[in-house]
Amino acid sequence: MNTVCKLCDQKKSKQQDNICDECSTIQYNLIYRRSIDEKLIYPQYSLELTFVIEQPYHDGYCSDPCDKGYETVRETATFPLLRIFKDADMDHENDEIDSDHPKLTYYYHHTANCGLGSGYCYMDKTTSVVKAKVISDLATVVTLD
Ligand SMILES: [Zn+2]
Ligand SMILES: [Zn+2]
Repeated sequence: MNTVCKLCDQKKSKQQDNICDECSTIQYNLIYRRSIDEKLIYPQYSLELTFVIEQPYHDGYCSDPCDKGYETVRETATFPLLRIFKDADMDHENDEIDSDHPKLTYYYHHTANCGLGSGYCYMDKTTSVVKAKVISDLATVVTLD
């Protein structure tokens, strides 16, 4: 059965987490800093994202964790800007895209795992975008397609 990909909005047959294979590849290439098809990105702009990450920590094995809790980490990183973001997605006052924009999911994974071991602690690492700013390589006004 075909379902709609939550990133490209196209009906595709093979999907994981409601993201199609093509979009999964784009997501992987963005997150792991692999090269990305130049047709998919704006050459003159990049996207500066600020993430807030709730990172679990614990001592001992995941199956028997102790001293556990969550640490809030703030990270800023710059990525290629995908052409799926259009001028209407951007606030021209500050060149920012709404941090709740669903397509920003291209730039991070939801990790249903602490990342420290087997994951049997059931402590999820959660990532959210709190700021998405379009950066211009040129000293010009930012205008998207
Ligand atoms: Zn897709
Ligand atoms: Zn764990």
